[in-house]
Amino acid sequence: MSHLIIRSIRLAHCKRGPARCEQCRALDGEKYCLLDIDPPQPGMAQRRTIQVTLKGTPVWREFDVLRVFDSRDQAAAYATSAGLELDPEPPHLPMLGD
Ligand SMILES: [Zn+2]
Repeated sequence: MSHLIIRSIRLAHCKRGPARCEQCRALDGEKYCLLDIDPPQPGMAQRRTIQVTLKGTPVWREFDVLRVFDSRDQAAAYATSAGLELDPEPPHLPMLGD
């Protein structure tokens, strides 16, 4: 089941994002989610994409959100029970003034 990952992502209702979509703005926020990065029928849906590291190589994959966790603890508990690990957060770019 290597196509499942758990990562904290910004929730969105569609690919237009919070800048252009009222419903996305209402959902704005980051949550840990269970993601299927090898979803059925690739290219057939207007899916968002996410950068993941597969075998040491960063690649962009379409994904479906299978589950949204209420907290990091809940995500970690699920990860343990499912034999998954929480995906490391991508390195944050340094902000001006840091
Ligand atoms: Zn939207």
